[in-house]
Amino acid sequence: MKYSRVHNFINGRFTKSLSSHYLPVISPVDGEPLSEVPLSSAGDLDNAVAAATKAFPGWSATPIKERAQVMYRYRRLLEKNIDKLSALIQEENGKTLSEATAEIEKSIELSEFAAALPQFVTGEVLEVSKGVECKTEHVALGVVASIVPFNFPAMVPNWTIPNAITLGNCMILKPSEKVPLTCGKIAELLKEAGLPDGVFNLVHGDAEIVNHICDHPGIEAVSFVGSTNVAKLVYRRATYNYKRCLALGGAKNHLMVLPDAIPAMTAQNVMASMSGCAGQRCMAASAMVAVGSTDHIIEKICEEARKVIPGENLGAVISKASRDRIEKYITEAEQQGAKILVDGRNARVRGKENGSYVGPTVIDHVKPGMAIAQEELFGPVISIMRADNVDEAIAIENASPYGNAASVYTQNGAMAKYIIARASAGMIGVNVGVPVPREPFSFGGWNESKFGVGDITGKSSIEFWTKLKKSTTKWNMEAGVNWMS
Ligand code: NAD
Repeated sequence: MKYSRVHNFINGRFTKSLSSHYLPVISPVDGEPLSEVPLSSAGDLDNAVAAATKAFPGWSATPIKERAQVMYRYRRLLEKNIDKLSALIQEENGKTLSEATAEIEKSIELSEFAAALPQFVTGEVLEVSKGVECKTEHVALGVVASIVPFNFPAMVPNWTIPNAITLGNCMILKPSEKVPLTCGKIAELLKEAGLPDGVFNLVHGDAEIVNHICDHPGIEAVSFVGSTNVAKLVYRRATYNYKRCLALGGAKNHLMVLPDAIPAMTAQNVMASMSGCAGQRCMAASAMVAVGSTDHIIEKICEEARKVIPGENLGAVISKASRDRIEKYITEAEQQGAKILVDGRNARVRGKENGSYVGPTVIDHVKPGMAIAQEELFGPVISIMRADNVDEAIAIENASPYGNAASVYTQNGAMAKYIIARASAGMIGVNVGVPVPREPFSFGGWNESKFGVGDITGKSSIEFWTKLKKSTTKWNMEAGVNWMS
């Protein structure tokens, strides 16, 4: 085991879990054991909630401009530690070093937005009648929780931590049990940045601790990012307990490629979108609808796919189980008549024979009814469906129960506008394969890709992490003047 056991982080200190149950943490790069993560007990969560509850009055009463100073320092520490953090992400998640570095760069952008929050939450004030003022303020909720997935060990935690705490909340974060190490470093950096003890806490574990979080009476709000099935469970359980909840789920993102798309740029983009982070992104393109005569573009996509080499510019998928699942989908599609143009099955990386790799896979003539066309694979696989016209392509996209992202490749502005208006997804790209909105714009899908109101980042997240206080004040010396006068 390369690293010592993972501990919770409670009240500013790494704290051994009360539980004696641990899970191994395995590197998908080469199958080597990295560490062990505790399956924390309800008692661990109670201790974290108690620490956060104690910290809340002081932290929420600290002026927001002062709270934002912690974010400036945190941002600098992310920059200073970018190499160490990236190496750790690569080890525990399996993505390439440049992808891991991009996660920290995005985390820096997220902390910059949080540092700018004082400019967004000035509230409103108006003299509504003589001597009478109405005022609104954004007020912190209290102790909040964030539950995160394995695919972005730093970026997704940083979707929630900076905004929630800068807005005055105290947080309990539950990292993915598959990649628990990076969050420990984040906790250290927040402390070094001057965050008071108890404002940020880590409690490790799996489904059981998530259920305790949803049930805990001391927690006001729960944000969740993960698969749709679990998002539904968490949303139902947290709201049943009268908590505010925003739960982001899985995705099946469609790229609609029109015959006038620029072939080289489109092919490069499609490949980057489907194979980046080994396809383990909720924004990855995994379905492509080729409209009309697009064979010349599909040929180029295959050329690009052959330049993507596992272990070089393509990272691992999270586990052997995940690799086997992805390969099973490919084999089933083949058996059902789809044509494998580039086959990534049985990929092996020399010297890393125990790693979990799937090569880039391009499958043509997939039918909309096949499982590979409908379900989230979370691997570097693109399923190409053929459509005769744009309306047919839109109908295929609309039929998906998900709705995270959709993109169109065309040089025809009017056609792009037509598709934007009709695609049933929260984030749309035009000649952009991974249409992630950048701060201050917010991130969030539709349909079964998100449960709850608002988005998880950017300006929209302010509504989730705060409640509005409305005050009406009358400073009027004259008698007989009422508030309506
Ligand atoms: P997951 O749903 O398996 O796990 C997410 C979190 O939930 C983890 O912390 C895990 O410990 C916990 N969990 C797992 N099973 C649970 C259960 N039965 N009850 C309660 N909690 C449970 O997701 P994952 O495999 O870690 O991540 C991949 C998924 O996340 C993909 O579906 C991907 O699309 C999605 N994702 C979505 C977004 C988005 O913005 N919509 C972003 C990143 C990832």
